[in-house]
Amino acid sequence: MAKAINNKRIGIIGGGQLGRMMILEGKKMGISFVILDPTKSCPASSIADEHIVADFYDIDRIKELARKCDVVTYEFEHINADILIELKDKGSIIYPPPESLKIIQDKLKQNLFLKDNNFPTPSFTKVESIEDIYLASKKYGFPIMLKSRKGGYDGKGNFLINEVEEIPLAYKSLRLRSDLLMVEEFVPFELEISVTVARGIVGDIKVYPISENIHRDNILYTSIVPARVEYVVTQRAKKLALEVIEQIKGIGVLCIEMFVTKDEKIYVNEIAPRTHNSGHYTIEGCATSQFMQHIRAILGLPLGKTDLIKPCVMINLLGESEHEGRGVMIGAQDALAICDVNIHYYGKIFTKPVRKMGHVTILGENINDALAKSDKVRKLIKIVSEDEV
Ligand code: ADP
Repeated sequence: MAKAINNKRIGIIGGGQLGRMMILEGKKMGISFVILDPTKSCPASSIADEHIVADFYDIDRIKELARKCDVVTYEFEHINADILIELKDKGSIIYPPPESLKIIQDKLKQNLFLKDNNFPTPSFTKVESIEDIYLASKKYGFPIMLKSRKGGYDGKGNFLINEVEEIPLAYKSLRLRSDLLMVEEFVPFELEISVTVARGIVGDIKVYPISENIHRDNILYTSIVPARVEYVVTQRAKKLALEVIEQIKGIGVLCIEMFVTKDEKIYVNEIAPRTHNSGHYTIEGCATSQFMQHIRAILGLPLGKTDLIKPCVMINLLGESEHEGRGVMIGAQDALAICDVNIHYYGKIFTKPVRKMGHVTILGENINDALAKSDKVRKLIKIVSEDEV
């Protein structure tokens, strides 16, 4: 008898916007979802079938999640991979495989994996004492990038060191977070790009169009798709993404972040073992969204087409108020008068400066058309605190 899918239950560790968007997609096929997140009012809570309110390190509740679901996945990488490996060994189905998560969640292990498999990465050194940073600075020359190996996001956990005098401060500040540090050579890149890629249970792979990513203060500000790079760069980046997901035996969606230099060299910066902010454009911009693709992959369903429907620009909606307060979105009425504007609001109750509150994807006839419309949308839509309206 053919396999039914509407009775499937997916467990998600994390109930943020990525989980929420996954649920919105899965519900279309009748799939149900249990989330595990410590915050009662997290973005996914209002639409999940069940919410286990628990800490991400609560072993018993993670086991409960696994017991209740056909498959467990996660929407962020800073979780205990060992618990997931133990659960997997006892028969739970967990994707992406926790063994690959264990490599990816430690930037040093990730870089070693990339290097051992001949993928191009910035040169790097393990830091065991401050001496290692001085030595690395001599080897690579300034600037250098000091990084926390674990737990970083949106650049938190990185310290750009421009001169030798800054080394003690950089070391001291990052050691406040963790003892596990590494140094990378600084790559003077021209562009940052990312490639969303999906691999199914039987090893089938689909690669998405390349996204060009512009950051401000280390937070993604705009993604432009297709990235404005030469055809050969696109082809090489796609091939790299495909080889990385194959080599790391990923199952589900991964996002590979890369640097492109002026002379068109590509470096792999980072692998995210999950759907990614720079892949949000796929919801309206591609034949299959990254969230639907992830669900298809982890349920063992055939992967969907990844073709671009139209060139597009994704802008993040960040909290703009000076202080924390109940979030209100203004300007949507005028923005929606522009064609092909798709607004996503994550349902976070409180806004605060630069908090990711939503995003907008704007499709255009060409990149310049989408960019021109996105400039208008950015001026119109604001997320402010209720008391500022
Ligand atoms: P996170 O894990 O917090 O996203 P990343 O390691 O991806 O942090 O770094 C955040 C940003 O810092 C990157 O998007 C890039 O702009 C910059 N960056 C990181 N590593 C390097 C490097 N080796 N050389 C130049 N810039 C870098």
